[in-house]
Amino acid sequence: MKSKIENIKNYYLEVCKKEKLNPIPIKFCSVSKGGACLQYSNSMKPLNIQIDLNRCVDIEYALLHEISHQILLEKKKDPALRHNAAFRKIENQMNDKYMYSDLTFKYRL
Ligand SMILES: [Zn+2]
Repeated sequence: MKSKIENIKNYYLEVCKKEKLNPIPIKFCSVSKGGACLQYSNSMKPLNIQIDLNRCVDIEYALLHEISHQILLEKKKDPALRHNAAFRKIENQMNDKYMYSDLTFKYRL
């Protein structure tokens, strides 16, 4: 049986493939506030997604949230730290598409 970490990574890779996104590394570490975050460079290039398995209550939700940040960053160079309307639109679309979808069950998230 695949580990939780493998499942999270594979879920992420499959969403990236479907959304035509360049995958970035997922790091499992301690993250304050919210339990997940997207790190990016000064030039607004996405660097990695950090997930704190001890803090994240809903991994799928957290992952889709960070992927939405990644999409907006790649498209508009906007980190959307305050979750603006453009961000919320993307996040809603991602949640509609992937929350509790076949992928959720395939990767047991
Ligand atoms: Zn956010």
